[in-house]
Amino acid sequence: MSSKDAPPPLPEPLGVPVADSHTHLDMQSGTVEEALAKAAAAGVDTVVQVGCDLKGSRWAAETAAAHPQVHAAVALHPNEAPRIVLGDPDGWSRQGAREAGGDAALDDALAEIDRLAALPEVKAVGETGLDFFRTGPEGIAAQERSFRAHIEIAKRHGKALVIHDREAHDDVLRILAEEGAPERTVFHCYSGDAGMARICADAGYHMSFAGNVTFKNAQPLRDALAVAPLDLVLVETDAPFLTPVPYRGRPNAPYLVPITVRAMARVRGIDEEAMSTAIAVNTARAFDY
Ligand SMILES: [Zn+2]
Ligand SMILES: [Zn+2]
Repeated sequence: MSSKDAPPPLPEPLGVPVADSHTHLDMQSGTVEEALAKAAAAGVDTVVQVGCDLKGSRWAAETAAAHPQVHAAVALHPNEAPRIVLGDPDGWSRQGAREAGGDAALDDALAEIDRLAALPEVKAVGETGLDFFRTGPEGIAAQERSFRAHIEIAKRHGKALVIHDREAHDDVLRILAEEGAPERTVFHCYSGDAGMARICADAGYHMSFAGNVTFKNAQPLRDALAVAPLDLVLVETDAPFLTPVPYRGRPNAPYLVPITVRAMARVRGIDEEAMSTAIAVNTARAFDY
């Protein structure tokens, strides 16, 4: 294994344990038990495991049921919904998907998300939202229909809503306002600027910051973190993606959360303990565990 692919070393553990509010353990190497033990050794005592399709959502619920420190979020990812309706451009033909009744297939998949959302170990519906980076214009209708359905499911079950917003800030905010956001809404991997952070603050939306807040070119993100109300700020890895500096490009995992927490504390001008304490309280409130 070259050093580029090697897992970064265990950081100095946090004095006050926090939660990784968004991770994908099913996309990381090693077992769930190993990941949780390593996270705990770094002062990361809780993780929210996020499903992106039916298989991943079922797995998230099962994993949360088996581990008290894991909570599940279930959804069809914004890039998954168009695949269900239109067919996977890399797989079976789009024509085939239409003939199979793509909208009906999406309804069937949403019914299964609805069923999973009722489970007590499932604390959130998401990640859902809009992704104009990966999904082209032909997929927008399916993406939006799926997003609106997830909002409705979250509200009906009284669960948190986890938002994936990639290059779609205005439309995500508009649809949330049109549908009426659930009481607890989390923008995962928050990617807006300070202006959007003020809009989220007014609406009471939580903003979860990932390792990219440490990236050199991410000053707008740090400006957003600086103005966000402290009681709406969360931290996440979105692992295996977005590994914080100085390990950018190497595999990410929940045990690396302390690096991002320390960077966030510096941006806020508060000590690590105050940052960790706020994050721990905020995450428990956002996901109601
Ligand atoms: Zn996402
Ligand atoms: Zn994610």
